[in-house]
Amino acid sequence: MSAAPILPGATLGVLGGGQLGRMFALAARRMGYRVAVLVPGDDSPTGQVADREISARYDDLEAVEELARSVEVVSFEFENVPSATVAAAARHAPLRPPGALLHASQNRLREKRALGGLGLPVAPHAAVETPDDLGAAARRVGFPAILKTAAWGYDGKGQRRVESEAGLEAAWRELGAGPSVLEAEVPFVAEISIVGARGLDGEVALYEPFLNHHAAHILDVTVVPAPVTAATRAEAEAIGRAVLEGFDVAGLLCVEMFLLEDGGLVVNEVAPRPHNSGHLTIDAHVTSQFEQQVRAVCGLPLGSVDRLGPAAAMANLLGDLWSPEGPPRWPAALADPAVRLHLYGKGEMRPGRKMGHLTVVAADAAEAERRVRNARSALVG
Ligand code: AMP
Repeated sequence: MSAAPILPGATLGVLGGGQLGRMFALAARRMGYRVAVLVPGDDSPTGQVADREISARYDDLEAVEELARSVEVVSFEFENVPSATVAAAARHAPLRPPGALLHASQNRLREKRALGGLGLPVAPHAAVETPDDLGAAARRVGFPAILKTAAWGYDGKGQRRVESEAGLEAAWRELGAGPSVLEAEVPFVAEISIVGARGLDGEVALYEPFLNHHAAHILDVTVVPAPVTAATRAEAEAIGRAVLEGFDVAGLLCVEMFLLEDGGLVVNEVAPRPHNSGHLTIDAHVTSQFEQQVRAVCGLPLGSVDRLGPAAAMANLLGDLWSPEGPPRWPAALADPAVRLHLYGKGEMRPGRKMGHLTVVAADAAEAERRVRNARSALVG
């Protein structure tokens, strides 16, 4: 069964006002849709480019219902949307991707169980909820291990590396002594991600795997094509498809994975929304991940995921690049004519805050990565 498509001219709703909502809204408006966003605060990155910005907290259910009544579909740009908010929105408009995927991705234990239930490879792990769980978890998982809070974690927040059982209890207390998951440290050779979409009719489109470099647990640079074999690519795509189909998703998501030395993959986490590693699709692919999200949640045919050039790389611009002496040296970065600048319209710079990104399309992956890194370095000269 596939519902009637939501056509250009209609209004699309977004929960969350950050850069992901902004780039979704830009794609939607280019296609002739109107966009309404609900975000605490005003002049948000999304609100700046949307038709309507409702300034309200996510637990203001009247405001959430007001948003949902005024749109044809509600999507979201961050996964920690409270379940009461999801329910309030869903009373008036379909929520895409569906609440079940959102619910699983909000909690690392639920997420691991759901992924394992789909038969997907996840790291050995154990729940730690009380001090009594520590010993059994240590024996089950072994060391080194990573202890993560079960809820509200992203970009390495709420996690500690633990080298032996001796340090486990202290790490758990440092993280707040709440529900947590201890997982084996995966000896990965690289980190990759798969961004994919599924339409209302079940059509699936998966971008090629992206190679991701992190710095201080935050995505730093993404490169395509990723140096993976055809077999690994096929496995990554099968994992992306399994999550899209397993959760009956209409929408777009990203699966982050660890690549092992033997070419095998271990799933780290699922983001039920566009992902930072997919930003290079704006400049490097026929259809950007944001246009694909629009198409998927509106029930339109999905766009081509073909790459436009031989290779591309994206470098994040964090708040650290701004100094008291002034803004980054934009002309210096743009001196390479292949560099494309994306800024998110955030007023306040903070270390670690994602302010924008640069993308370069080039003849090969190494050249794209070198040029995008050089351009970013030139910003602070
Ligand atoms: P996460 O917050 O789960 O996305 O983790 C952030 C980063 O921490 C990942 O991208 C990895 O670089 C690292 N990391 C997280 N979990 C593990 C693990 N089980 N083994 C090795 N590295 C990990």
